Amino acid sequence: MGIITLKDKSFDTYISKEDIQKRIKILAEELKKDVGDKEPLFLGILNGSFIFASDLIRQCDFPLNISFVKVASYLGTKSSGSVSQLIGLNESILDRTVVVIEDIVDTGKTVEKIDGLLKKNGARDVKYVTLLFKPDAYTKSIPIHYKAFDIPNEFVVGYGLDYNGWGRNTDNIYKIIEE
Ligand code: 5GP
Repeated sequence: MGIITLKDKSFDTYISKEDIQKRIKILAEELKKDVGDKEPLFLGILNGSFIFASDLIRQCDFPLNISFVKVASYLGTKSSGSVSQLIGLNESILDRTVVVIEDIVDTGKTVEKIDGLLKKNGARDVKYVTLLFKPDAYTKSIPIHYKAFDIPNEFVVGYGLDYNGWGRNTDNIYKIIEE
């Protein structure tokens, strides 16, 4: 707890590890109620969700698969502009219930890309679970079904989230101290 420094920025404790773990237990119960009999495929979005995903699935006592993917954008042909791709999706999602695990949903652009790709590949039902949600920044209409915490429009790190690659390896979540 307290203040941490990552390179040129300082961050203050914002959400404690105890509060995170409490919310994860509640989310796991909600997921069990909603998809516990659907043998869902959980898809963790790399890099940020790896710690949250690992804690969440261990609280989910029902049959599930877990896989991790990266969302990559590349330039397609001139007419198609930027194209998105899920790297690492090796299993079929046809007719499956998919639970996407995000670290943070900000504007919703990432979720929108993922949603399009999963629907295109025939997912039956897609649910979104995120550790953090910034309601004031969200501009999309895709419902985010499970949120551990709503937070204001401020930059946070820790528990998987990074500042330029640093700070992922903490149990608490920290908020930037603006100078
Ligand atoms: P979106 O596509 O929803 O605008 O953005 C999602 C991505 O932006 C997240 O996966 C994360 O990489 C990054 N992001 C947005 N807000 C924050 C934040 O407060 N802290 C960190 N570390 N990353 C953020």
